[in-house]
Order: sequence, then structure tokens, then C-alpha cells
Amino acid sequence: MTQSVLKACLVGATGRMGTELRTAARQRSDLIFERGLAENRSDPSDQFDGLPVTNDPEKAVQGVDVVIDFSAPEATLETLQVAADESIPFVTGTTGFDDSERQRLDDFAQSIPLLKAANFSIGINVLKKLTRLTSDALSDDFDIEIFEAHHRNKTDAPSGTAKQLGRAASDGQQSQLKETAVWTRHGDTGDRSDKEIGFQVLRGGDIKGEHTVYFCGAGERIELTHRAGTRQIFADGAIDAAVWLTDRPPGLYGMDDLLF
Ligand code: NAD
Repeated sequence: MTQSVLKACLVGATGRMGTELRTAARQRSDLIFERGLAENRSDPSDQFDGLPVTNDPEKAVQGVDVVIDFSAPEATLETLQVAADESIPFVTGTTGFDDSERQRLDDFAQSIPLLKAANFSIGINVLKKLTRLTSDALSDDFDIEIFEAHHRNKTDAPSGTAKQLGRAASDGQQSQLKETAVWTRHGDTGDRSDKEIGFQVLRGGDIKGEHTVYFCGAGERIELTHRAGTRQIFADGAIDAAVWLTDRPPGLYGMDDLLF
């Protein structure tokens, strides 16, 4: 029996992650990219590294089994609209959505299987679990802070992953991140409160992604760190997610559903 090969559309085909995904797909026998979507493209026969790439979502998703998206919120939502109309499962790793855009993602997930992950690495998903567990186990005497570092071209801050780690930490201490998050500190800040969760951001060079969750007590400190050495881990995780997603009913999924 021959294994079926999924035909996929790559949204963000010309970007950093697009490049990793094209490379990752060449190593696999279960998924191929048929077409891509990116900015500043016009004709679908316009080839980019051997892939026809267009800026028209309708042309990009035509006839594919699944969409994999690493682009920008505007491109994600525009392509999702077309994918939902055509009942095509959709995997997105794009970050930087605001509240109303997140709501729109939830709405689309009522009609198609949609898997959304701010980070497709297995290590980060385990780190989220450890963060929740550690936060749950410690008392309010431990102050929680989250540090993240990324390359100089990342356009949103803090990273979607840092916010997810913040959510895991606040779940553990039974609080709401929107009430406890401190996004910046500058000037006369006064004392730190017990439940606040502070975020620190570094941008520079070609850092692929680093995240540390600090639990700072009196006389002791726990640091949970993940460092991405290559973007390939995100690309492999996203393709695994796409293969997994195509058999699912409509709904909003995350990497937790795939991994645990
Ligand atoms: P990039 O800037 O290198 O590439 C962006 C791509 O999206 C390009 O191909 C660009 O043409 C396309 N694009 C942007 N706006 C568009 C529009 N309006 N219409 C059509 N195409 C458009 O970015 P990147 O480093 O590849 O990251 C892309 C996204 O993936 C970011 O949101 C980033 O935070 C996220 N990311 C997620 C993970 C993860 O594991 N979830 C890992 C790395 C990056």
C-alpha cells in the first residue's frame, strides 16, 4: 500500500521560517509544498527556490490538503478566511495577534481544524508543563520573572512563547496573567508585588529563541531555561502538526493535543 502524500500550502514561504519549512519538507515523504504565499509576489508561476509563490490567498490554497502558516497576523487571517471557505485544515505558528484577532482565530476553528502554537518545539512544550508544575508547587514567596531573547528582526515583544509561559505560571499561582503581568519597568517602580509576573526582552543578532522562567525566593532561585539552537525544530514540529491535524474534526488545537 502506498502512503498518501499531503499537499500543503506554505504561507510566509519566503521568510526565515518559510526557508526552514521548505528544507524540512524535502527530508520527508508524508508532505510536500505545492504552492506558497508571500508579500510582493504576483504570478503563481513566480518560482521561489523551486516553489510557485503568489500573493493571492485563493490561488495559494487551491487544491491543497493543509495550510502551514508562519507569516504575520494580517496574512494569517486573510488566508484562514479562504481556507475556512474551502474546509482546509490550517496550522499556524504566526505570533503577535491582538485580542480581536485571537477571537477571529477561535471563530474560524468552529468550521475547520486549526492548530495554533507560538512554539512548535517539544522542549518548549515540556518547559510550559514544568513552569505550571513549579509555580503550583511554590508559595507566593517566590517571585516569577520571564526572560526571552530573539534575533534583531523579530517584530513582536514579548514573544508569544514568553506570554504562554506567563500563562502557565499564572495558572499555577491561580491568577490571571492580564492582571499580574508587568510588561515593562522604568523609573521609580516601587516594591514588587507578590503575584506580579515580570517580562524581560532582549533583541539582537541571530538568536533563534531563548526563554528562562525564574522563580526567585529568599536565599534560593530556580531557573528553567530552553534554548533553540536551530529553527529546524519549529519546522519539523509544524509539519508533524499538519500531518496530525488533517484527520481531526473542526476545533482549536495546540501542541499539547499532539504531544501529550
Ligand atoms: P519573516 O519576516 O522572515 O517572514 C515573514 C513571511 O511572511 C515572508 O514570507 C513574508 O513575505 C510573509 N508575509 C508577511 N506579511 C504578509 C502579508 N501581509 N501577506 C502575505 N505574506 C506576508 O518572519 P519569520 O521569522 O519567518 O517569522 C514568521 C512568523 O512566525 C512570526 O510571527 C514569528 O514570530 C513566528 N515564529 C513562530 C515560531 C513557532 O514555533 N511558532 C518559530 C519562529 C517564528
